[in-house]
Amino acid sequence: MLFRQLRLSGFKSFVEPSTLRIEPGLTGVVGPNGCGKSNLLEAIRWVMGENSPKSMRSGGMEDVIFAGTDRRPPRDFAEVVLQATGDDGEDFDVVRRIERGAGSAYRLNGKDVRAKDVALTFADAATGAHSPALVSQGKIAQVIAAKPTERRMMLEEAAGIAGLHVRRRDAESKLRQTEANLARLEDLMAGLD
Ligand code: ATP
Repeated sequence: MLFRQLRLSGFKSFVEPSTLRIEPGLTGVVGPNGCGKSNLLEAIRWVMGENSPKSMRSGGMEDVIFAGTDRRPPRDFAEVVLQATGDDGEDFDVVRRIERGAGSAYRLNGKDVRAKDVALTFADAATGAHSPALVSQGKIAQVIAAKPTERRMMLEEAAGIAGLHVRRRDAESKLRQTEANLARLEDLMAGLD
Protein backbone atom coordinates (compact mmCIF):
# COMPACT_ATOMS: atom_id res chain seq x y z
CA MET A 1 0.00 0.00 0.00
CA LEU A 2 1.22 3.49 -0.87
CA PHE A 3 0.17 6.59 1.01
CA ARG A 4 0.00 9.46 -1.47
CA GLN A 5 -1.47 12.43 0.32
CA LEU A 6 -2.59 13.59 3.74
CA ARG A 7 -5.00 16.48 4.22
CA LEU A 8 -5.62 17.98 7.64
CA SER A 9 -8.09 20.56 8.79
CA GLY A 10 -8.57 21.67 12.39
CA PHE A 11 -6.41 18.75 13.54
CA LYS A 12 -4.23 19.74 16.52
CA SER A 13 -1.92 22.59 15.43
CA PHE A 14 -3.03 22.28 11.75
CA VAL A 15 -5.92 24.72 12.04
CA GLU A 16 -5.83 25.81 8.37
CA PRO A 17 -6.45 23.12 5.73
CA SER A 18 -2.98 21.72 4.99
CA THR A 19 -1.89 19.15 2.43
CA LEU A 20 1.15 16.91 2.64
CA ARG A 21 2.17 15.00 -0.49
CA ILE A 22 3.86 11.73 0.35
CA GLU A 23 6.32 10.51 -2.26
CA PRO A 24 7.15 6.81 -2.68
CA GLY A 25 9.98 5.54 -0.47
CA LEU A 26 11.05 6.52 3.02
CA THR A 27 9.65 9.81 4.31
CA GLY A 28 11.27 11.80 7.12
CA VAL A 29 9.72 14.86 8.75
CA VAL A 30 12.15 17.46 10.08
CA GLY A 31 11.59 20.87 11.65
CA PRO A 32 12.05 22.93 14.82
CA ASN A 33 10.66 21.78 18.16
CA GLY A 34 6.91 22.19 18.43
CA CYS A 35 6.31 22.76 14.69
CA GLY A 36 3.94 19.77 14.44
CA LYS A 37 6.08 16.81 13.29
CA SER A 38 4.53 14.38 15.76
CA ASN A 39 1.06 15.81 15.07
CA LEU A 40 1.47 14.75 11.41
CA LEU A 41 2.32 11.18 12.37
CA GLU A 42 -0.58 11.15 14.80
CA ALA A 43 -2.91 12.35 12.02
CA ILE A 44 -1.92 9.29 9.94
CA ARG A 45 -2.58 6.98 12.91
CA TRP A 46 -5.84 8.73 13.70
CA VAL A 47 -7.30 8.47 10.19
CA MET A 48 -6.40 4.76 10.23
CA GLY A 49 -8.65 4.32 13.26
CA GLU A 50 -6.47 4.97 16.32
CA ASN A 51 -8.83 4.95 19.27
CA SER A 52 -6.58 5.46 22.24
CA PRO A 53 -6.45 9.16 23.22
CA LYS A 54 -3.27 8.37 25.17
CA SER A 55 -1.37 7.39 22.05
CA MET A 56 -2.51 10.69 20.53
CA ARG A 57 -1.04 12.46 23.59
CA SER A 58 -4.60 13.55 24.43
CA GLY A 59 -6.83 13.27 27.50
CA GLY A 60 -9.93 12.60 25.39
CA MET A 61 -10.33 12.09 21.64
CA GLU A 62 -11.88 15.56 21.18
CA ASP A 63 -8.55 17.03 22.26
CA VAL A 64 -7.31 16.44 18.69
CA ILE A 65 -9.55 19.34 17.60
CA PHE A 66 -7.68 22.67 17.33
CA ALA A 67 -8.02 24.15 20.81
CA GLY A 68 -7.50 27.81 19.87
CA THR A 69 -4.73 30.28 20.70
CA ASP A 70 -4.59 33.86 22.04
CA ARG A 71 -5.42 35.07 18.54
CA ARG A 72 -7.58 32.26 17.08
CA PRO A 73 -10.82 30.77 18.37
CA PRO A 74 -11.04 27.00 18.79
CA ARG A 75 -12.54 24.85 16.04
CA ASP A 76 -15.65 22.65 16.32
CA PHE A 77 -14.29 19.80 14.25
CA ALA A 78 -11.13 18.13 13.00
CA GLU A 79 -10.85 16.24 9.74
CA VAL A 80 -8.08 14.15 8.21
CA VAL A 81 -8.16 12.69 4.68
CA LEU A 82 -5.68 10.04 3.60
CA GLN A 83 -5.35 9.22 -0.08
CA ALA A 84 -3.65 5.94 -0.83
CA THR A 85 -3.15 3.28 -3.48
CA GLY A 86 -3.92 -0.29 -2.46
CA ASP A 87 -1.83 -3.36 -3.32
CA ASP A 88 -4.36 -4.02 -6.10
CA GLY A 89 -3.36 -0.69 -7.71
CA GLU A 90 -6.75 0.93 -6.88
CA ASP A 91 -6.74 4.45 -5.42
CA PHE A 92 -8.91 5.04 -2.39
CA ASP A 93 -9.42 7.71 0.25
CA VAL A 94 -10.38 7.53 3.89
CA VAL A 95 -11.84 10.45 5.83
CA ARG A 96 -12.15 10.65 9.60
CA ARG A 97 -13.95 13.57 11.14
CA ILE A 98 -14.65 14.37 14.76
CA GLU A 99 -17.10 17.00 15.96
CA ARG A 100 -17.38 18.29 19.49
CA GLY A 101 -20.05 16.27 21.28
CA ALA A 102 -20.70 14.02 18.25
CA GLY A 103 -17.72 11.63 18.16
CA SER A 104 -15.92 10.29 15.09
CA ALA A 105 -17.33 9.39 11.68
CA TYR A 106 -15.49 7.62 8.84
CA ARG A 107 -15.89 7.60 5.08
CA LEU A 108 -14.22 5.23 2.64
CA ASN A 109 -14.37 6.43 -0.99
CA GLY A 110 -17.20 8.79 -0.05
CA LYS A 111 -19.35 6.15 1.68
CA ASP A 112 -20.08 6.16 5.42
CA VAL A 113 -18.34 3.18 7.03
CA ARG A 114 -17.66 1.82 10.52
CA ALA A 115 -14.35 2.26 12.34
CA LYS A 116 -13.87 -1.50 12.00
CA ASP A 117 -14.06 -1.33 8.18
CA VAL A 118 -11.29 1.27 8.15
CA ALA A 119 -9.16 -0.73 10.61
CA LEU A 120 -9.54 -3.83 8.40
CA THR A 121 -8.62 -1.91 5.24
CA PHE A 122 -5.27 -1.04 6.78
CA ALA A 123 -4.67 -4.17 8.88
CA ASP A 124 -4.90 -6.37 5.77
CA ALA A 125 -2.18 -4.30 4.13
CA ALA A 126 0.08 -4.56 7.20
CA THR A 127 -0.21 -0.83 7.84
CA GLY A 128 -2.38 -0.61 10.95
CA ALA A 129 -2.44 2.47 13.17
CA HIS A 130 0.32 0.83 15.25
CA SER A 131 2.35 -0.17 12.23
CA PRO A 132 6.10 -0.25 12.76
CA ALA A 133 6.30 1.59 9.42
CA LEU A 134 5.39 4.75 11.37
CA VAL A 135 8.51 5.60 13.35
CA SER A 136 8.02 8.35 15.91
CA GLN A 137 10.70 9.91 18.09
CA GLY A 138 12.08 7.37 20.59
CA LYS A 139 10.58 4.44 18.67
CA ILE A 140 13.94 2.99 17.60
CA ALA A 141 14.97 2.58 21.25
CA GLN A 142 11.58 0.97 21.93
CA VAL A 143 12.08 -1.56 19.11
CA ILE A 144 15.47 -2.56 20.51
CA ALA A 145 14.04 -2.98 24.02
CA ALA A 146 10.80 -4.68 22.84
CA LYS A 147 9.57 -7.81 24.63
CA PRO A 148 9.35 -11.01 22.50
CA THR A 149 5.52 -10.69 22.29
CA GLU A 150 5.81 -7.10 21.04
CA ARG A 151 8.44 -8.17 18.53
CA ARG A 152 6.13 -10.94 17.32
CA MET A 153 3.41 -8.33 16.68
CA MET A 154 5.84 -6.33 14.55
CA LEU A 155 6.76 -9.44 12.54
CA GLU A 156 3.08 -10.30 12.08
CA GLU A 157 2.42 -6.81 10.74
CA ALA A 158 5.38 -7.15 8.37
CA ALA A 159 4.11 -10.57 7.25
CA GLY A 160 0.69 -9.07 6.54
CA ILE A 161 -1.28 -11.31 8.91
CA ALA A 162 -2.32 -8.63 11.43
CA GLY A 163 -5.74 -8.38 9.75
CA LEU A 164 -6.40 -12.02 10.66
CA HIS A 165 -6.40 -11.15 14.38
CA VAL A 166 -9.19 -8.60 13.90
CA ARG A 167 -11.21 -11.21 11.96
CA ARG A 168 -10.52 -13.87 14.61
CA ARG A 169 -11.90 -11.64 17.38
CA ASP A 170 -14.97 -11.02 15.21
CA ALA A 171 -15.46 -14.74 14.51
CA GLU A 172 -15.00 -15.64 18.20
CA SER A 173 -17.65 -13.16 19.24
CA LYS A 174 -20.08 -14.55 16.61
CA LEU A 175 -19.32 -18.09 17.86
CA ARG A 176 -20.09 -17.11 21.47
CA GLN A 177 -23.36 -15.51 20.35
CA THR A 178 -24.32 -18.63 18.37
CA GLU A 179 -23.48 -20.90 21.34
CA ALA A 180 -25.71 -18.77 23.56
CA ASN A 181 -28.52 -19.00 20.96
CA LEU A 182 -28.12 -22.80 20.77
CA ALA A 183 -28.27 -23.15 24.55
CA ARG A 184 -31.45 -21.04 24.59
CA LEU A 185 -32.95 -23.21 21.81
CA GLU A 186 -32.17 -26.40 23.76
CA ASP A 187 -33.91 -24.91 26.82
CA LEU A 188 -36.97 -24.10 24.72
CA MET A 189 -37.03 -27.59 23.12
CA ALA A 190 -36.74 -29.19 26.56
CA GLY A 191 -39.77 -27.13 27.61
CA LEU A 192 -41.77 -28.58 24.69
CA ASP A 193 -41.08 -32.25 25.64
P1 ATP B 1 9.17 18.18 19.11
O1 ATP B 1 10.25 18.19 18.10
O2 ATP B 1 9.42 19.12 20.25
O3 ATP B 1 8.72 16.82 19.56
P2 ATP B 1 7.01 18.41 17.15
O4 ATP B 1 7.48 19.11 15.91
O5 ATP B 1 6.86 16.93 17.11
O6 ATP B 1 7.87 18.86 18.40
P3 ATP B 1 4.29 18.45 17.89
O7 ATP B 1 4.44 17.77 19.22
O8 ATP B 1 3.78 17.66 16.76
O9 ATP B 1 5.64 19.12 17.51
O10 ATP B 1 3.36 19.75 18.01
C1 ATP B 1 3.23 20.42 19.21
C2 ATP B 1 2.41 21.67 19.00
O11 ATP B 1 1.08 21.30 18.66
C3 ATP B 1 2.35 22.47 20.26
O12 ATP B 1 2.61 23.80 19.95
C4 ATP B 1 0.93 22.29 20.75
O13 ATP B 1 0.45 23.44 21.39
C5 ATP B 1 0.20 22.09 19.43
N1 ATP B 1 -1.07 21.37 19.65
C6 ATP B 1 -1.26 20.10 20.04
N2 ATP B 1 -2.58 19.82 20.16
C7 ATP B 1 -3.24 20.96 19.82
C8 ATP B 1 -4.61 21.33 19.75
N3 ATP B 1 -5.61 20.47 20.02
N4 ATP B 1 -4.91 22.60 19.38
C9 ATP B 1 -3.93 23.48 19.08
N5 ATP B 1 -2.62 23.19 19.12
C10 ATP B 1 -2.26 21.96 19.49
